[in-house]
Amino acid sequence: MPCKSCGSVNQRKFIGEIGIHLPGPKNIDKPVLWVFPEVVVCLDCGAAEFAVPEAELRQLAKGDAPTG
Ligand SMILES: [Zn+2]
Repeated sequence: MPCKSCGSVNQRKFIGEIGIHLPGPKNIDKPVLWVFPEVVVCLDCGAAEFAVPEAELRQLAKGDAPTG
């Protein structure tokens, strides 16, 4: 699938390590939700794309503190 930003097919898959924070000052003390998704990076323009794995996605959908 070509890059959504520039249309290039020069993309590679990597394993990402991404800490997701809940927004807002009241959540500043909440723990970070770590996800390790497959990340597709466009090697021409740098656009990156990933999907949050299902287990972590459920935690985000609850909108509550990640229990990590
Ligand atoms: Zn691109």
